[in-house]
Amino acid sequence: MSTCLFCRIVAGEIPATRVYEDERLIAFNDINPQAPMHVLIVPRAHVATLNDLDASHDALVGEMVRRAAAIAGERGYAAGGFRTVFNCNADAGQTVFHLHLHVLGGRKLAWPPG
Ligand code: AMP
Ligand code: ZN
Repeated sequence: MSTCLFCRIVAGEIPATRVYEDERLIAFNDINPQAPMHVLIVPRAHVATLNDLDASHDALVGEMVRRAAAIAGERGYAAGGFRTVFNCNADAGQTVFHLHLHVLGGRKLAWPPG
């Protein structure tokens, strides 16, 4: 059994509120939402961080980013705006070391980030 939290969610061993899934990705609601929409887009395959990507992942990352825009659009946030975030390693606050794209929307988001 994997010890990776998101691998366990992908495998269905830990529950999550899934909002999208296909052969390569799943998307589910963040357990500690920071905005009215806070979805995580997660590849089924384990990749620890952005630093671990290579050219073989290019299509996968493209699908993740396009899926983020599709989910935001379905919820009516395309025109008003939304944010996508990949945190990478400690200084960015990464806590789960399985690649994931945060998709946040539904409120005004400050910039620069904290
Ligand atoms: P990061 O800090 O970028 O690694 O983001 C990890 C995210 O995973 C945080 O926003 C957490 O709230 C979220 N998270 C942790 N455990 C779960 C869980 N069991 N289900 C859904 N989201 C989770
Ligand atoms: Zn994993």
